[in-house]
Amino acid sequence: MAASWGSILQDEKQLEEVARQAIDRALAEGVLLRSSQSPSSSDVVTYAPFTLFPSLVPSALLEQAYAVQTDFNILVDAVSQNSAFLERTLSSTIKKDDYTAHLFDIYKQVLKEGIAQTVFLGLNRSDYMFQCSADGSTALKQIEINTISASFGGLASRTPAVHRAVVLLIAQEKERNIFDQRAIENELLDRSIHVIRRRFEDVSERGSLDPNRRLFMDGQEVAVVYFRDGYMPSQYSPQNWEARLLLERSCAAKCPDIATQLAGTKKVQQELSRVGLLEVLLPGQPEVVARLRATFAGLYSLDMGEEGDQAIAEALAAPSHFVLKPQREGGGNNLYGEEMVQTLEQLKDSEERASYILMEKIEPEPFENCLLRPGSPAQVVQCISELGIFGVYVRQGTTLVMNKHVGHLLRTKATEHADGGVAAGVAVLDNPYPV
Ligand code: ADP
Ligand code: MG
Repeated sequence: MAASWGSILQDEKQLEEVARQAIDRALAEGVLLRSSQSPSSSDVVTYAPFTLFPSLVPSALLEQAYAVQTDFNILVDAVSQNSAFLERTLSSTIKKDDYTAHLFDIYKQVLKEGIAQTVFLGLNRSDYMFQCSADGSTALKQIEINTISASFGGLASRTPAVHRAVVLLIAQEKERNIFDQRAIENELLDRSIHVIRRRFEDVSERGSLDPNRRLFMDGQEVAVVYFRDGYMPSQYSPQNWEARLLLERSCAAKCPDIATQLAGTKKVQQELSRVGLLEVLLPGQPEVVARLRATFAGLYSLDMGEEGDQAIAEALAAPSHFVLKPQREGGGNNLYGEEMVQTLEQLKDSEERASYILMEKIEPEPFENCLLRPGSPAQVVQCISELGIFGVYVRQGTTLVMNKHVGHLLRTKATEHADGGVAAGVAVLDNPYPV
């Protein structure tokens, strides 16, 4: 048994609760057997017995077993076509074993009549144990091969869902964008991964860490925490901050973890554009650096000092060429034009200005489209678009095990709006029409 589950195995109350959850999951997933009292009726079924935790198997042996399976298929198929070998090998057995003799009689008879079958279907299961040597090494050793009625393939494909810990989606109480989130929940459910929606408040009331910093929510172990809340200050009460800390201290994979959230701040974006910084963060990858830098707009620090003073002077001299941004997400926080000028005048001589960054204002070429929203008449207006590309990656320790792009989002809004996304009621969903 895995050492990391040791603490649960020792805590009787927690063990009971985790077991209760696992049994419900097994029933829900269809990991079932008929009862021994009425094996020909499904009126009463119960869960097929299973371990509470997956057991450790050396990955090299698992890979070896998979790799050799097609070889065993070939071997079984070769044996089945070699009547001389079968006859020679089984001759002594069939003299003493009636059952094998009976099978062999049928074999001889169909051979004599000529085999009518032209298509041959094998469904084998080769079984192994892990031979442990005195030196501590383990080896894959075959127990037997089953060529008839190899069972439990059906239930075995459902048991991973029983052992999988859940994804905890940190959700807001009021959420208009629920269907965007449901789409993800359903996609995961199709892969037998269950999502539980909880608020920060639920986490602070009923979430807990075990001594190995495994995260539990209502008795279920959480593998992944996915935040759809907690990206702006108004979403944090003192209780919610505590919940965030609890989640962060756990060994669950947070999406994002706190460092990754900080990496997405506008201040970091601005610093990354500084000459030479990408080269320091991504050493030895000049092509990557060049591709990244090609997409950077002008970004300026407003930290106290000459550089910040100069940026402010330039923005005040040509306000329409700049955007002033605080460290906020969610749209509607940026300042443009006259509002930006007023704020810059106010902030100019205070340390507070360092909490903002200044950015070159991007000027896309406007085009005509019709933005549809409930309650408004269809009307052609001048528009600009913003393209988003989704990226996903998984790092295990220090090794990046997955890194890919996974789709795009095009949002389009009328040129009259400087700021704001779809949720803010400004932009609408769109699709790129490549030209
Ligand atoms: P948020 O985190 O609030 O989404 P953004 O930096 O994405 O902040 O800005 C919000 C919106 O403001 C963007 O969707 C875009 O419409 C507009 N905007 C932001 N920066 C610029 C810019 N440099 N030039 C032109 N428009 C911008
Ligand atoms: Mg944005």
